[in-house]
Amino acid sequence: KNFDEAGLAEPILRAVKEEGYEAPTPIQREVIPLMKEGEDILGIAQTGTGKTAAFVLPLLTRLAEDRKKPAPHTCRALILAPTRELASQIAESVRTYGQFIGPSVAVIFGGVKPGPQLRALSKGLDIVIATPGRLEDHMSTGGIKLDATTTVVLDEADQMLDLGFAPAIRRILGKLPKVRQTVLLSATMPIQIRNLAKEFLNNPHEISV
Ligand code: AMP
Repeated sequence: KNFDEAGLAEPILRAVKEEGYEAPTPIQREVIPLMKEGEDILGIAQTGTGKTAAFVLPLLTRLAEDRKKPAPHTCRALILAPTRELASQIAESVRTYGQFIGPSVAVIFGGVKPGPQLRALSKGLDIVIATPGRLEDHMSTGGIKLDATTTVVLDEADQMLDLGFAPAIRRILGKLPKVRQTVLLSATMPIQIRNLAKEFLNNPHEISV
């Protein structure tokens, strides 16, 4: 099975081909169609399986197929990651796979001045990639509002819990619209992740690759 049958928007498919990818990986084969349909997903996925493209490609496809301008201080999709390194890597993938649609993207993490991040958020964005702590800072100052965010991805969720982000994640998810798509990816599936999924996911498809 190759990428032509994966149902990706043409400009996204073109970017994938430029990267030299020939076929979707197993997690991509499972996640891409489900995400396109707006389904919730609880996935066990390790680094190196192609998990980033698995959620970024369908996300970009949905943006490409419905190009509305986000309002100031809102984002259409939110990706949460445990560290600035992972957030930056995901942003790099978003820019690569999205190069022919040019989505508006901001990366939000702590340890740097909030000003430039705030300026980016004030324009309204297609995709925000954030670590939970700094995202909450921007939420509390009105820099970002999550009431128009209809897709959220939690990447390396077990790592986020290990770093003590569980309360922040619960507060963030609690601020999102009830009608939304939630995708939770984790390398391991401890009870804390299952509980998070029970609280915040709606009939999730369970995937393990
Ligand atoms: P990840 O699991 O997201 O960290 O991705 C691991 C690596 O696999 C990255 O360097 C990607 O560029 C690469 N990759 C992702 N999807 C594919 C694919 N379908 N074919 C070949 N390489 C891929």
